[in-house]
Amino acid sequence: MKITSSHFGKTAQGESVTLFTLENNRNLSVKISNYGATVTSILCPDKHGELADIALGFDNLQQYMTDHPYFGVVCGRYANRIAKGVFSLEGRKYVLPINNGPNSLHGGFKGFHTVVWHAIPFKNSEEVGVKLTYLSKDGEEGYPGNLLVKVVYAINDLNELKISYTAETDAPTVVNLTNHTYFNLNGCKETILDHIVTINADKYTEVDSDAIPTGKLPEVSGTAFDFRKAKKIIDDIEKVGGYDHNFVLNKSNENELSYAGLAYEPQSGRTLEAFTTEPGIQFYSANFLDGSIKGKNGIQYKKHFGFCWEAQHFPDSPNQNHFPSTRLYPGESYNQLTIYRFGIRD
Ligand code: BGC
Repeated sequence: MKITSSHFGKTAQGESVTLFTLENNRNLSVKISNYGATVTSILCPDKHGELADIALGFDNLQQYMTDHPYFGVVCGRYANRIAKGVFSLEGRKYVLPINNGPNSLHGGFKGFHTVVWHAIPFKNSEEVGVKLTYLSKDGEEGYPGNLLVKVVYAINDLNELKISYTAETDAPTVVNLTNHTYFNLNGCKETILDHIVTINADKYTEVDSDAIPTGKLPEVSGTAFDFRKAKKIIDDIEKVGGYDHNFVLNKSNENELSYAGLAYEPQSGRTLEAFTTEPGIQFYSANFLDGSIKGKNGIQYKKHFGFCWEAQHFPDSPNQNHFPSTRLYPGESYNQLTIYRFGIRD
């Protein structure tokens, strides 16, 4: 296994940005940039041994610095939505930037996806990876407390991409981190509608027309959200106008690393399995891509050209007391481990 790095460019402020390439012994190669803690590419073989890039994104830093739909990035300080961009904590009200209808999405305009992280590559007998750290200052994008965030990306010879997150604060705050990679297991040849998917969730968070949870956690049984048995994404997608929903993952214990889902693309034979310590996963079927973005290799990213499995706490948790808490206090540590395992089925 090895890790190499190259210069990816400079930000408008003159900060130098690096692109790291992680390679294992089984032809898996993952590129990570410290701009936005972004997964820019995942190259892996199909059932014939042909390599293809199964992640959406760009091949240059300039495009990552535009207002793009979060390709591969780490979202924070709060991934997903906070209703009306307000929440209260310890008797104080906090007001956040509104950047998605009436709500605050993915940490605001200058979320963690827009900053340059400090990066240290590493290698040991089991994995190669890069440790990224970022200090989000008290008041940044409206959030209280200086938050020191660490995200470690690593790959191993089990063909796993492991993403571990930790964070510490010096004042009460809320934290919800996720990775926003758009996968397309056929290597972006066509949409993801024929991918066959299983999600280990008996329930989902019901949402209103602005994608804010109503607070109810209905059973998936008998709905388009029932992925407990493998089915094609296309089967029920039109019933819900595209998937952009948080699934409540089945767990025996809170915070345990557990199986979240499996996606399989029959033509290539590629599979993706996800495991996470998080209570939920946002399944987003790229409903808002419309062909106007040209990504890597000149490919136009059309509607449903990728899918995201954003492991996270439930949307709007700071305003929903019965949801698992996203509050973080001084002296505590935020921890998340999410694993994407790439495979092949004949
Ligand atoms: C959100 C979508 C949004 C997308 C990219 C997802 O996490 O749930 O509504 O369009 O991110 O912008």
